Amino acid sequence: MRSSVISLALLAALAAPSQAQDLKADLGNQIHQLMPKVIDWRRDIHQHPELSNSEVRTSQLVAAHLKKLGLEVRTGIAHHGVVGILKGGKPGPVVALRADMDALPVAEKTGLPYASKVKALFAGEEVGVMHACGHDAHTAMLMGAAEALAKLRKDIPGTVIFLFQPAEEGAPPGEEGGAALMLKEGVFKDPKPDAIFGLHVWPMEAGKIFVRPEGTMAASDRFEVTIKGQQTHGSSPWRGVDPVTVAGSMIEAIELLPSRQVDVTKAPVVVSIGQVKGGIRFNIIPDEVKLVGTIRTFDEQMRSDLIERMERTVKHVAEASGASATLEVSSGAAVTWNDAKLTDWAGQSLAWAAGDKGVGSLKPITGAEDFSYFQQQVPGVFFFLGVAPEGKPLADVAPNHSPYFVVNESALENGVRALSGLALDYLSKGSGQ
Ligand SMILES: [Zn+2]
Ligand SMILES: [Zn+2]
Repeated sequence: MRSSVISLALLAALAAPSQAQDLKADLGNQIHQLMPKVIDWRRDIHQHPELSNSEVRTSQLVAAHLKKLGLEVRTGIAHHGVVGILKGGKPGPVVALRADMDALPVAEKTGLPYASKVKALFAGEEVGVMHACGHDAHTAMLMGAAEALAKLRKDIPGTVIFLFQPAEEGAPPGEEGGAALMLKEGVFKDPKPDAIFGLHVWPMEAGKIFVRPEGTMAASDRFEVTIKGQQTHGSSPWRGVDPVTVAGSMIEAIELLPSRQVDVTKAPVVVSIGQVKGGIRFNIIPDEVKLVGTIRTFDEQMRSDLIERMERTVKHVAEASGASATLEVSSGAAVTWNDAKLTDWAGQSLAWAAGDKGVGSLKPITGAEDFSYFQQQVPGVFFFLGVAPEGKPLADVAPNHSPYFVVNESALENGVRALSGLALDYLSKGSGQ
């Protein structure tokens, strides 16, 4: 009885491969054929990098490509953002895929034939510009995913939104930009996606995909403590209030918070002070000292708790010396929070993209991503694609943002497969997530 049931099921499976399987095989073939184009686009974008909120050429390239594919194209979103909408031939849910397009003020030193020689103004200074975070590869891979999925349009059950995002690295001071501005300008309205997927290239084993559920990249908050004392001569500190010594105690007290007051078994917390500003002359005790730093957390409750503790610490440490102090916190990115159920579901799709042994887990990353803002609106999964060059120990591979950062292009096919495979699988399973 038991064996006959199994063989019947097996026969059925062999005789009638599902339509979804056919479509996936077709998708794989389409992607394989268009990879030379993806690599050309990536090299072209790499040679013409543009800083955050200046992605003029890149967005034109993307928009022209999406128009050629017959997608509905929206431009000028959050300055230079581009959105392409692919309506499949069958009804179904809506899924979004995202790539970021901006480069960094880094002078390239890779020596590649298509290395960037571009210079631009950044914070009033002339700097080299480089795709040192691999957003050139992200853009090219999503252009490839759009082309592959557009070829299958009539069989696609639902809608795919392609989000080409500017200014992921952060808008220049005084400007808005990135994912937050795209959302503010209504990118998730008409149609609203049911889920979103995105990836980042990372200096890990080439072609392998890495993913984890829940807190994946940190929330990033910039903080500024302003300590107010009373200026006086350095020879007679008792005649004023010295904010420099208060700053010394304050740095120590702030750094003790993550180590003494946070349950580190729950999730990691990092506080770093990168700037101490105050004083003008060796024998003048200044009026004011500023401490500027960053807070990295993986849990919204831990984040707000830590900020409350910092407020308390800042106030009381200053008061103990007769000074006063204020704390200002501004959010750079929320936690990149991978929806647990969706991440679990995505495992099979990612295994199709990179092979059963091609998907691994990873530790939380204390860097931040503004993809997190999209995930605050809809369930999403953000994962990593290994792009380390061959023949080098991983420990010696240049990290993102380094002038020596390189992308192993042989890995990009798996990235295109992952993005378009996730979209197609998500739509094929219906909206019953
Ligand atoms: Zn970056
Ligand atoms: Zn990046």
